[in-house]
Amino acid sequence: VAKHAGKARYVVFDPEMHAVAERRLAMESDLRQAIASDQLRVAYQPIVSLRTGRPLAFETLVRWAHPVQGLLAPADFLPIADETGLIVDIGTWVLNRACADFAAWRRLSGIPPLAAIHVNLARKQLLLGKLPEVVMDALESHGVAPECLHLEVTESEIMNDPVHAAAVLGDLRRQGVKIDVDDFGTGYSSLATLHELPLDVLKIDQSFIAKMSEDHCFAALVHAVTTLAQNLGLATVAEGIETSDQVAMLQSMDCDYGQGHYFAKPMSSDEALAYLRSHATVSPEWSSVDSLSA
Ligand code: C2E
Ligand code: MG
Ligand code: MG
Ligand code: MG
Repeated sequence: VAKHAGKARYVVFDPEMHAVAERRLAMESDLRQAIASDQLRVAYQPIVSLRTGRPLAFETLVRWAHPVQGLLAPADFLPIADETGLIVDIGTWVLNRACADFAAWRRLSGIPPLAAIHVNLARKQLLLGKLPEVVMDALESHGVAPECLHLEVTESEIMNDPVHAAAVLGDLRRQGVKIDVDDFGTGYSSLATLHELPLDVLKIDQSFIAKMSEDHCFAALVHAVTTLAQNLGLATVAEGIETSDQVAMLQSMDCDYGQGHYFAKPMSSDEALAYLRSHATVSPEWSSVDSLSA
């Protein structure tokens, strides 16, 4: 590198950059280990009907129980997993874990029927030629119907190569799997592209929900999105709901579902089961009709 820097310039050795590079390298080899030695975990967050308050689905969120650093969030290790391609193996593991837990919950009696399990997809999984095969294998081996699986792909990941994304997602959707656009509003999809994509759900990014109560421009944007979704025949999920005020606003906009700390934080599989049990009956503050089928 220094050789190309030219005569007038020189490159200093930056110990801080060196430390960062070393940490990344260590993390990469740790992450390879993590997959092999069963250190990955999943957390589940309920997706709730904004008409009845009932949980109808859970979103699966990956965690890493690092032997030294403790429980790590996706932001701590997914960027490296993505760069190294390890994200593909992690994704397959998460998908199978989610299907296994969903099938186990559904086998138990005394809990309200759960419509779906949501799993996030990375762009590198989309690029993988055999994604539909990997997904159908996971569903079959755990006895989960394709209609019960929602795959969440972020708007920017789709827009990176919309033609290819449409082909892969269309393939999955023809087999019955549901497709959700995650973090909607943060990417740059044109309305025309949106209409051509094989989609079922728009998940409105939490940044819009957070600003909605203070800034009426954001409330207007969220309302525009729910109206657009309705006209395109898509369901809407509002992400990152933290207050009852936000719930009321979203209900007035006819948003279908909500997710966020107001309802529950991501939890373990056992806690998810307990959550389902404790929400077996609709509490009186919610209307009793649930006209939605997820
Ligand atoms: P996401 O798919 O948009 O998931 C929602 C994120 O918002 C989660 O963060 C969740 O814990 C957080 N959240 C939920 N409710 C609230 C709230 O009321 N307030 C706030 N401030 N945050 C809330 P988490 O678990 O850290 O995941 C971050 C992102 O990492 C996810 O965003 C998703 O893009 C990615 N991710 C998570 N698991 C996977 C996975 O298995 N595969 C892939 N490819 N990506 C994943
Ligand atoms: Mg998601
Ligand atoms: Mg999101
Ligand atoms: Mg997000």
